[in-house]
Amino acid sequence: MSEVLELKNSLEFAKSLDEKDPLKNYRERFILPQHNGKDVVYFTGNSLGLQPKTTSSYIQQELDDWGKFGVEGHFLAKNPWMPYHEFLTDKMAKLVGAQPKEVVMMNQLTVNLHLLMVSFYRPTKQRYKILCEAKAFPSDQYALQSQIKFHGFDIDDALIEVHPREGEYTIREEDIFSAIEKNKDSLALIMIGGVNFFSGQVFDMKAITEAGHKAGAIVGFDLAHAAGNIKLHLHGWNVDFAAWCSYKYLNSGPGSVAGAFVHEKHLSNVDLPLFAGWWGHDKQTRFLMDKKFIPMQTAERWQMSNAPIFSMAACRASLDIFDEVGMDALIEKSKRLTAYLEFVIGEINKKKNNCLHIITPEKNRGCQISIVAHGYGKPLYNKLIENGVIPDWREPNVIRCAPVPLYNSFEDIHRFSEILISLL
Ligand SMILES: *Cc1c(COP(=O)(O)O)cnc(C)c1O
Repeated sequence: MSEVLELKNSLEFAKSLDEKDPLKNYRERFILPQHNGKDVVYFTGNSLGLQPKTTSSYIQQELDDWGKFGVEGHFLAKNPWMPYHEFLTDKMAKLVGAQPKEVVMMNQLTVNLHLLMVSFYRPTKQRYKILCEAKAFPSDQYALQSQIKFHGFDIDDALIEVHPREGEYTIREEDIFSAIEKNKDSLALIMIGGVNFFSGQVFDMKAITEAGHKAGAIVGFDLAHAAGNIKLHLHGWNVDFAAWCSYKYLNSGPGSVAGAFVHEKHLSNVDLPLFAGWWGHDKQTRFLMDKKFIPMQTAERWQMSNAPIFSMAACRASLDIFDEVGMDALIEKSKRLTAYLEFVIGEINKKKNNCLHIITPEKNRGCQISIVAHGYGKPLYNKLIENGVIPDWREPNVIRCAPVPLYNSFEDIHRFSEILISLL
């Protein structure tokens, strides 16, 4: 990284990087929140991605067709609602490295985790444990705990959490592997966040899947912070199932429709238990409204209800942008932006007594840097907000910054550094 050695923390230098950025024009395609008449420095795309300017016209199209056709819009709308979810499938499958038949957009993330665990967490007296990362996102913790309880097991006994070692912030993968090995006779499921929401650590999903399978367990991932952020190969990695939301890196709007993945190898098993609804029934005969459920041979089998068209329209607007750019170009820029943010924090540290400690690993990360601000608390965050920077704050003293390649600039990072240094 000879380029890294030449980095400078100046406005001029940041602007020169923006000038050379092949994706620089994409910022224009998004609506940036304003602060005192200027774009905010938006570093929270890992929490709620920004709105593409095209989103409203995609939604308006469906509103218009609803007005024009009423129920007939299911067939006559420009984008017929009947198969609407299918319009998202190919592009989403590409983003997560899956075959189209392995992916479906439906429901919300936590709902999908539960629906998939209905099929893939089938504990027995011998094999009933779930392994996850310590301090998983709270919703995931509640989901796992309630599944264990639902099946009549004891949470303390059945839930194995792998912790960072004393004094460390990230989890050593060797500790995950030894926990798998230690519990190999009783492990039913591994369910880990592919990218940790707090530290930004990216786990080696391929190796974890392999180790899990070797131990006889099913392996699933929560990809809330991974989809649209890092390169994924769910099919190739042989992951059993996964779920993710679309409102973080995938810019599909608050509470928008979520994704689910089921590996091809499970799709031919028509006897897999699941919670069924009419949208999972074979399409050709769905409207015969017959008593017998005929499961689809794709991930669509897990759909229960008909599709939420408006949030799917928003998701579609965003996926069209992702498809145009491609993950390779995004990741290329993501790495540069994140490296620049890391550099700038190093420069601040030189002036401010090393008060900022980056806990995100240097190698295994996406576009997120989590910083412990030693000696500072929530007032620092409030001041950042007052000055037009929107990072994310986690008690007691962690600032999470996500420089998102689609709409953040090198100039954003420089502005952030100027404001932060003035507050420290
Ligand atoms: C954001 C996030 C969620 C949120 O769940 P919803 O069902 O979409 O409300 C769950 N898990 C993880 C890991 C997340 O990052």
